[in-house]
Amino acid sequence: MERSDVIILGGGLVGLTLGIALARHDISVTVIDPIDPSKTVAAGFDGRASAVASAPWKMLQAIGVARHLEGKGCPIGSIKVQDGLSPEALMFEPDADDGALGYMFENRMLRFALQATARDVPGLTLHMPARAAAVERDLDGVRVTLESGETLHGSLLVGAEGRQSPTRDAAKITVARWSYDHVAMIASIVHSRPHGNIAYEIFYPTGPFALLPLPDGEDGSHRSALVWTVAAADAPAMLGLPERAYQAEAERRMGGMLGDIRLISPRSSYPLGFHHAARITDTRLALVGDAAHGIHPIAGQGVNLGYRDVAALTEVLVEGMRLGLEPGDAQLLARYQRWRSLDTFMVAASTDGLTRLFGVPGRAARTIRRIGLGAVQRMGPLKGRFMAEARGETGKLPKLLQGLSI
Ligand SMILES: Cc1cc2nc3c(=O)[nH]c(=O)nc-3n(C[C@H](O)[C@H](O)[C@H](O)COP(=O)(O)OP(=O)(O)OC[C@H]3O[C@@H](n4cnc5c(N)ncnc54)[C@H](O)[C@@H]3O)c2cc1C
Repeated sequence: MERSDVIILGGGLVGLTLGIALARHDISVTVIDPIDPSKTVAAGFDGRASAVASAPWKMLQAIGVARHLEGKGCPIGSIKVQDGLSPEALMFEPDADDGALGYMFENRMLRFALQATARDVPGLTLHMPARAAAVERDLDGVRVTLESGETLHGSLLVGAEGRQSPTRDAAKITVARWSYDHVAMIASIVHSRPHGNIAYEIFYPTGPFALLPLPDGEDGSHRSALVWTVAAADAPAMLGLPERAYQAEAERRMGGMLGDIRLISPRSSYPLGFHHAARITDTRLALVGDAAHGIHPIAGQGVNLGYRDVAALTEVLVEGMRLGLEPGDAQLLARYQRWRSLDTFMVAASTDGLTRLFGVPGRAARTIRRIGLGAVQRMGPLKGRFMAEARGETGKLPKLLQGLSI
């Protein structure tokens, strides 16, 4: 029988990060995931790229993941928000000595780095690929039986299985959810003009169109990740367009700002929805990442919200265990629930509001948006608040996100 303090179901971008963060603080952890890790880093498994905000980046540095990512990311120097191709734009640009707002990484690179780190951290046991056949939780502890017949015991179970979390459903946790009736089409492109480390968020009534800077290719080509949102009903036709026609459509929406473009990856698509679990804890259970909440990728905050869960849960458990409590203690879980629920709700609500505000068609709505963009551009404090949000620095910040040790 294997025993660990914490058993994590789900070794994705958030679950594996939590496993590493806890093990780095001498909390023994087991991570279980049905997918073979070598498959998740294969080209074509996940063609997305993620913006890791500057605060979670400090955590990745603190837990030893960042050293596997050196030179592989692209700093986001500024974010330009515009309503269609109108000249009225909002530019979020930090002071030169404040550093980048975040870093863009291909998800594949993040997975490589997490797996490479996880292999070297004492106290972290990986069961990947492996599937849990039975999971029991009660006041006495957590027991997980793998399909292989092996039994694992722990004090706390963490659900990190993403949007469809079976652990969340088994705990009968209510989830508020709605679909945006939108599909995000993802691809990587090369372009003739450099991106200047700018992330572009261009809002069209049909959905936002984002260009996120990637590092130049080995041949010196300039690259960006394209996240192009369209109505679900239009997606099959758009995705079915021949490559040249698709490129031409994309170029039209970019107004030539990056010059000529060419697709360099297959096109993939994801249906978009919002979901928010009514609570993120239960008896000896905590939820993290997409198992707890999912938002529109418009602001690139999805994985960052998960990283904020990781930092808060790690701090709560490390401090609690120093006081002699066990990780599954109800008081510790209550603290985690209090800490995270307000923050995730605020980010989710503002992202949802933004999506709706920019989705309203017609001239009147466009005028209001332009006035709003112009006003925010001129107002220092409000802009500062948006930038703090982009950096992942709002709310009561866990120590790991400040680059401090717990
Ligand atoms: C189109 C799109 C673009 C996005 N862009 C961004 C972005 O730019 N920036 C950003 O921050 N976020 C972005 N996101 C969101 C981000 O991808 C997610 O928030 C993030 O992947 C969540 O990580 P996770 O580990 O919680 O879940 P997942 O990545 O879904 O991982 C879940 C893991 O659990 C495993 N699993 C599933 N079932 C079980 C089970 N029964 N038992 C055990 N394990 C199981 C899976 O194999 C997987 O490894 C985007 C999302 C979409 C859809």
